[in-house]
Amino acid sequence: MASILPPGIDNATFQKILQELSEIVGETNLSRDGLSGSLEGPHGQRTYGDAYVLQPENGRDPSAAIRPSLVSEVQEIVRLANKYKFPLWTVSRGKNLGYGGTAPVVRGSVILDLHRMNKIIEVNEEYAYAIVQPGVSFFDLYNYVQEKKLKLWPSCPAIGWGSVLGNTLERGFGYTPNGEHTQQQCGMEVVLPNGEIVRTGMGAMEGSKTFALFKGGFGPSIDGLFYQSNLGIVTQLGIHMTPAPEHYMTCEVSVPKEDDLPFLIGTISDLMRRNIIQNSPSVSNVLRQCFFSRDPKVAELISPYFGKGCIPENILSEAQKHMSCGFWKAQFALYGTLEIVHASWLAIERNFSKLPGVILWRKEATHRAGDFLTTTDVGPEEIPHSGIPTLDPLQLLGYRGPGGGHTCFSPILPPSGRELYAWYLTAKQRTIDAEFDFFADFHVYARYVIAIELVVFAPAEGKRCDELYRHLLEDAVQQGYSEYRTHVDYMDTIAGHFDFNKGALRKYIQALKDVFDPNGVVSPGKSGIWNSSISNGI
Ligand code: ADP
Repeated sequence: MASILPPGIDNATFQKILQELSEIVGETNLSRDGLSGSLEGPHGQRTYGDAYVLQPENGRDPSAAIRPSLVSEVQEIVRLANKYKFPLWTVSRGKNLGYGGTAPVVRGSVILDLHRMNKIIEVNEEYAYAIVQPGVSFFDLYNYVQEKKLKLWPSCPAIGWGSVLGNTLERGFGYTPNGEHTQQQCGMEVVLPNGEIVRTGMGAMEGSKTFALFKGGFGPSIDGLFYQSNLGIVTQLGIHMTPAPEHYMTCEVSVPKEDDLPFLIGTISDLMRRNIIQNSPSVSNVLRQCFFSRDPKVAELISPYFGKGCIPENILSEAQKHMSCGFWKAQFALYGTLEIVHASWLAIERNFSKLPGVILWRKEATHRAGDFLTTTDVGPEEIPHSGIPTLDPLQLLGYRGPGGGHTCFSPILPPSGRELYAWYLTAKQRTIDAEFDFFADFHVYARYVIAIELVVFAPAEGKRCDELYRHLLEDAVQQGYSEYRTHVDYMDTIAGHFDFNKGALRKYIQALKDVFDPNGVVSPGKSGIWNSSISNGI
């Protein structure tokens, strides 16, 4: 008898389903209980589900997991799901850790784990794009480019073991000038919930030579329907990359005081709108700088507070003095020719020097003028502005206790810095009241800021972290903001914020769901998208 069953399926039927799933992919690629077979998680585990549980009462455990390696197998699996009406939950590599990992919204869903579909279908050096399957990680793509000595810098997020395709579909981002992954996506292949295959954009033309070159195609574009979605299973995706530059400079700008944040953010976003800064700066606060400092005195100052509430502000001020750093630090890079990079730096210096006490720092690549840079000329950095993948930030997660994890509160704000500062002050106070530390991981773009607050928690603190999250959300909504991405526990709530004209957008998407997935077999509840027959829908 299976311990967890898909909703509405009895044990005898489930055993029949498992038998038929096994016939599609072979027994070794089926986990009959979801307790093994995933890629290795942050604590070395290979079980499916959420590694960092916030609401244990939801019990978001899967009933089983299946790992196809072919598109035709994916088609057979969705057809079987329709035959027996059981829910699947799609993941590519399942590393969406701060947002629920591989945990489904609906308990008892069968995880459709695509990590074995790991072909790099094409890398085009001349036009700087790649076409990848779901299982291709940022490490895989980077290593491929290195092995073939291609003049390309693929983008990579803070942690490199995730899926290029999965991260893009979640609206994730990296740090090269092509780091806004949804903007760089060009062409998709999708298995629809009825098993049919669709290619988007120019890919819809049989034998197309421009699949990954022109996103538009002809007529309406539908790529966006598959972002953070359950309207299909994406099996291929084209992504644009940064051509290796001739010259490169890593840059840091630090401002001394907490209330200098509006100046810092406003100046960065203005320079981004003018294309002087080309990649998204990552902005950290003193607390985050403490964790990345290798100075033993800093560790001595903060470590007595680990696992005991939050690190007090006077200790953080002392650490700031000791590190001689600013309260806020923005890290970014410049890419181009020697002349362009130097001219951009001059403009950056001129704009930021208006603030007394600002600290400007830069490091230039040294190589023969006129050559294209390899990332090995640059070397690994704290933030992968050159796209070199790393797992280092995972080390942070254990500081409040063994088995620790994180979640991200990820609101979208305007980029002047004024709104960000007002939001930050309330969010910081909420975080202190809940006895957690405020890790700023703000990402600045030309016309918005993704103001990520990273909350690190020990397993026993999940419930308190959930309470904090709800407060952060209430405050943000009162200020007129919501999130761009969220944990599986909050998907309905966030979807409910998008309520213009009585939720017309959500109703439109639901109508598409009803047409293309009448049995609701693909990832029910993803991003608050349900069939109209389901009571906890709209
Ligand atoms: P990563 O390993 O890059 O973190 P995941 O595999 O965890 O990415 O996927 C993140 C989320 O993106 C999943 O929970 C799922 O909702 C969505 N997703 C991932 N892969 C696909 C896919 N191939 N088709 C449709 N949605 C997907």
